[in-house]
This record gives sequence, structure tokens and C-alpha cells, in this order.
Amino acid sequence: MNLKQYYLTQNNCYKVGQKHEVKAIMVHSTGANNPMLKRYVGPDDGLLGVNKYNNHWNAAKPGGQNVCVHAFVGKLQDGSIATYQTLPWDYVGWHSGTGSLGSSRNANNTDYIGFEICEDNLTDAAYFGKVYKEAIELCVYEKGEDGTPVIIKEEAETVRLIYQLFLEGKTPAGICRLLDKRGTPTPSGKQKWSQTTVNSILTNEKYKGDALLQKRFTVDFLMKKMKVNEGEVPQYYVEHSHDAIISPTDWDIVQVEIDRRKTLGRAYSGNSIFSSKLVCGDCGGFFGQKVWHSTDAYRKVIWRCNSKFKSEKKCSTPHLDTDTIQQKFLLAYNRLMENRDGVIDDCKLIRRTLSDSTGLDAEIDKLTEEIEVVAEMIKACVKENASAVHSQEEYNKKYKGLVKRYEKATRRLDELSAERTRKQERDRELRLFIESIKKQPLVLQVWNERLWVGLLERATVFHDDRMVFKFKNGIEIEVEL
Ligand SMILES: [Zn+2]
Repeated sequence: MNLKQYYLTQNNCYKVGQKHEVKAIMVHSTGANNPMLKRYVGPDDGLLGVNKYNNHWNAAKPGGQNVCVHAFVGKLQDGSIATYQTLPWDYVGWHSGTGSLGSSRNANNTDYIGFEICEDNLTDAAYFGKVYKEAIELCVYEKGEDGTPVIIKEEAETVRLIYQLFLEGKTPAGICRLLDKRGTPTPSGKQKWSQTTVNSILTNEKYKGDALLQKRFTVDFLMKKMKVNEGEVPQYYVEHSHDAIISPTDWDIVQVEIDRRKTLGRAYSGNSIFSSKLVCGDCGGFFGQKVWHSTDAYRKVIWRCNSKFKSEKKCSTPHLDTDTIQQKFLLAYNRLMENRDGVIDDCKLIRRTLSDSTGLDAEIDKLTEEIEVVAEMIKACVKENASAVHSQEEYNKKYKGLVKRYEKATRRLDELSAERTRKQERDRELRLFIESIKKQPLVLQVWNERLWVGLLERATVFHDDRMVFKFKNGIEIEVEL
């Protein structure tokens, strides 16, 4: 981060100097096409360059407005990127243009540090990569002893813990309960964790060192309205924009696991990583946990079919203890890895087929075109009917026919889009599978839960004392109990 201090001492906000206790950070982008810092910060310090209109914010009321923020991120004269702190962090900023202290009912709240990213015309991905990195560093990092940015330790530790707990099988609700119990504060300093916060941490690319830029963008600079980007402005994906807190592979495994749990819906129970991966060979239901002798020295945790005594025909699949499940998994894993190179080659072959979506893309393009054409035809048909005298019977017939054609095309398009997504997800799953097994030892002696979560699709227990492990590459390995 290239952080410099340049207070706007002529600005009324600076002069009033009202103090606050900082509780949060508000990040904005200017929403105006001007990436140069000199537009807002001045006069020239030799690096900024001269603002020939002299309309920077180091004035009592810039542009007649009561505005001032704590920092700007943007371009210096020589094209390099910098962050200029323009107000002491503990001063109340006037983050928008109305009211005696800025619009405090609006985006301008005391207790916020507010800064602006100097927006350009939104076409230069490299520029956004750089300013976004600056912005993240300003938010996430503090100054290290030698002046270089370091990750704020406690936050990084909490983030790692959240990923670990999730990979151990906990649900976001369960993670909240645990963090509350430990008294770990939330990123905004609150005592009570919400599932939304945990979910956003689990899906935020910044923790693996990447950043998806412009997820939200400003639609109105002065009103500070933010909108989720639904394709109005381009999104840029910048890899390795800063140091990772979570390894990219672990991050990807978490995303796949989130999707998997979504497809399970309510069937997912967060007791342990064994939940919803152990399947009963008799009824197809999941195994669940049961504690025997919970109060005495013979306490034992076992796993058995959840519906064992519920259905009319009782399932006769055996129950298993944790140790047995782990040992059998290790056996299956070691057998899979006997032919690691072959397994990897097979995966690569499947990936080649999956990634070739030429036919699918062509059909999707054709349908999209068809939908547009039919939509136009419907419009024309309605217009024609309104402007001239027609047989209504004929009109209705024509109209209904077109609507039917439109609906048919839309349905088919939805199907094809879903298929393309499925293929992409499967491809991602296989890519991760290859990455994971490349790194692992060929023979594993000690239980490793990351591999259970990352590599295994499910393990089915049969009543004739067999267990079949189905790995995420599709290979099934049978182990005797
Ligand atoms: Zn069963």
C-alpha cells in the first residue's frame, strides 16, 4: 500500500474537527470518470500534479457542498497508484453533500471512516486491480513494525477458524454459536455473530488473495446509492491481488462443499463431517450419530441408519463406530492412490469433454436469438391488433401460438443453461480433485478429515458387511467391513 498523509486543512469539515470513535469503514467509488487524485486532493505536492481548475476538496466548501472524506485512492501524476489520507481517522467526515454535518441520516454516519476510490470509465481492468488492492489493504491491514502492511492478526485467525470449522462439518449456525461462546468479536466489533456474516466470510474471495471487482457499484455519487452489479458494468477477477489468509485450494473446497450442502437442503445436519456422506445401502437414507452409554465410562459414539427403526421394513445395515469409518476410508483412499497417475489421466479426459461446450453454446445462442425474435413478433402482433380492426378469434389464435413458441424456447434455454452450469461445476470439482490428490502422499496412515471432505462423494454401507466409497472423480472402491 502506498499511503500518504495530506490533510485538507482548508475544508470546513477539518476546521470543525468533530471527533468520533471509529467503529467501521465505508468504501465508496466516486462514480465520476476521473481517476486522478489531483481532482480531489490539492494543491500539488509534487506527486499529485496540478489541478488547473483548482476544484479540489481542500477548500471550505468544495463545489459549494459540505463534503469531505478520510481518504482517496487513485492515480498520481506519473500514473502510479496511491492512497491519500485527507482527514484524521478520528474526525467525523462529511460523506455527502447535505445537512450541517453532511447527511448523517444518509450514508454519512459518525463512527465511520469513509474513503473514495477515484473511478475511471470502468474499462481499465488493470487500474481497478490496483486501486482495489489499495482499498483492501487499507481496510484489512494495519501498519507493521517496518512500515509494510501486515494482516491484522486476530481477524485472520478468526477467518481461518471459520473455514476450519466449516470443513469439519459445522453449519454457519453452529459456527456462530461457537464463536459467541468463545467471545470472539465480529469484524464490526459486535459480540453476536450472524449466519450472514459467517456466510459472507466463507464466500469472500479476498481471503484467498483474489478479488472480484465491482460486485457493487455507485449509481449516484452524491446520494451514495450502491447497487449489486448485475452486469451493468464489467466485473474483473484479479488473482493474487494480496496475501492469502486461506489457501486457494481450501477456499475452492469450501465453495464446492457449500454447493453440496445446498443440494442436500434440510438433510444436511452439521453434527460432523460424517453426516450426509454415509448412506444406508438398504433404504438410501443417511446415517446419523448416536451416543451409547452417554453418562458412563463405556460412552461410545456410533453411526447407524437414521430411519433404522422408522420404516416398516427395518434396515439391516450394521452400525459403525468412528474409528471403523476412518480406517475403512484410509483403506479405500490408499487403494485409489495405488494408481494415482491413471486416476489423474482419467480425470483430465473427463475434463476435456466437460470443458467443450461448443454444441451447447451454439444452441444457447440460437435460442436466445429465437426468443428475441418471437418477443418482437408478439409486440408487433399486439400493436397491429390495437391499430386496426381484426377478427379477435384470429388474433387470439396467432397471439397464443406465439406465446407458446416463446415459452417453449425459454424453457429449453433454462434447461440448457442449467446443464452448462452443471458441467462447469463438475469440471471445477474434478480440477480440485486432481489438485488435491497430486499433493497428497500415496499411502496415508493417519486419518485426515480434509480428504474425507474434499475427495469423497459418499460412502454406502451395505447389510452384507461391505462399504462402497464413491470418490468425487466417480470411481467406486469396495472395502469389506
Ligand atoms: Zn436404512
